[in-house]
Amino acid sequence: MTTAARILSQFQATGVQTCFHDRHINPQIYVGLNGNNWSIKDYEARGGYQALRRILGKDGEEGLTQDQVIATVKESGLRGRGGAGFPTGLKWSFMPRSFPGQKYLVCNSDEGEPGTCKDRDILQFNPHIVIEGMIIAAYAMGISVGYNYIHGEIFQTYERFEAALEEARAAGYLGDNILGSSFSFQLHAAHGFGAYICGEETALLESLEGKKGQPRFKPPFPASFGLYGKPTTINNTETFAAVPWIIRNGGAAYLECGKPNNGGTKIFSVSGDVEKPGNYEVPLGTPFAKLLELAGGVRKGRQLKAVIPGGSSAPVLPASVIMECTMDYDSIAKAGSMLGSGAVIVMDDSRSMVESLLRLSYFYSHESCGQCTPCREGTGWMWRVIDRIQHGQGREGDLDLLNSVADNIQGRTICALGDAAAMPVRAMIKHFRPEFEALIRNKAPQAATSV
Ligand code: SF4
Repeated sequence: MTTAARILSQFQATGVQTCFHDRHINPQIYVGLNGNNWSIKDYEARGGYQALRRILGKDGEEGLTQDQVIATVKESGLRGRGGAGFPTGLKWSFMPRSFPGQKYLVCNSDEGEPGTCKDRDILQFNPHIVIEGMIIAAYAMGISVGYNYIHGEIFQTYERFEAALEEARAAGYLGDNILGSSFSFQLHAAHGFGAYICGEETALLESLEGKKGQPRFKPPFPASFGLYGKPTTINNTETFAAVPWIIRNGGAAYLECGKPNNGGTKIFSVSGDVEKPGNYEVPLGTPFAKLLELAGGVRKGRQLKAVIPGGSSAPVLPASVIMECTMDYDSIAKAGSMLGSGAVIVMDDSRSMVESLLRLSYFYSHESCGQCTPCREGTGWMWRVIDRIQHGQGREGDLDLLNSVADNIQGRTICALGDAAAMPVRAMIKHFRPEFEALIRNKAPQAATSV
């Protein structure tokens, strides 16, 4: 069995594979379905906290130095799973380890991108894997305090994570002198407030400090000026969840699961017009057609029309393009979109692209924090223009106007929300222009088609 196939069959990287249709594919994988197997006892029985023991030299062998841990993560090719895809080991190496004051580690569990629902499942059904990943990261960067910022609308998940923290403290995995070593790490859960923009790392930091969640200018970057102005490393939940497997099995083994520059596995949240929407963990580089097959194919035997491959901010790709893609950062970027958070929104041939874009535009207009004019005003303009097209009042020149507004947003804002609002507009018009033009020409309101 190849390493990739072994990962696929065991799902040891994050332990998450869910299907919302029939709730699970493999109950051994979908931990948490039976009783309390999210508990520390169950996690330890599955090899949990062995990676921590390994780096601290508590498994009978010599431990790993900070440099060795970072080198292993670099070798794994692990890229940030929150959206940006930045190499994790490289990010960890930016932390000024010799900084004399307090440094912080933050887990970004503020999962709010439409279509994404993987991090909440990891926290709900396998919370200790995130805790262990964070402890290892803190050890590697010499950090003694960490926070997991959890999206404000998932109360049960927050409580589950809090309970897991208590278990880890009681077992000696968290707190002072972890497992009798000289390494100490305090980890806390923080509940967010439900704003999409708080998923942006600097807005998250502001919110964590108790302020209004608005993005900061960068630079300075969090590695030098983060939480409370101190050096801070922020990674996504799924990124931390991959770390214990990497330490246990080696960076090379993880890299081998995916493809060069796209190491390991990735959880894809497949939603929309498929028979079995759910979270699917597959090796990076898996053909899109295979992922679609795992999700049961297009619903009711209809034809695939388009796919948004990486969350609502990723440019849409028509069926002819996505069917040629493999699911990894480079292949999707080459096709003109981005892998983002891995939220795959599938649309069949009954879907109106105008209506889909209208919904997306309203979302970004609503979620703009209002700090910068192009985003605050432009997202509202785009939404209103698309709304009039949808309702049969489109004008000649509206598509050029939309492209112009998008041009004046993209790259001209403090944070990436502006780009996230502009890119879907440009991509929808680029790939489905005749659909928009027909509505403008016919001047007939389009009936709603969405579920
Ligand atoms: Fe706020 Fe939008 Fe500017 Fe981001 S781009 S800081 S969300 S106004």
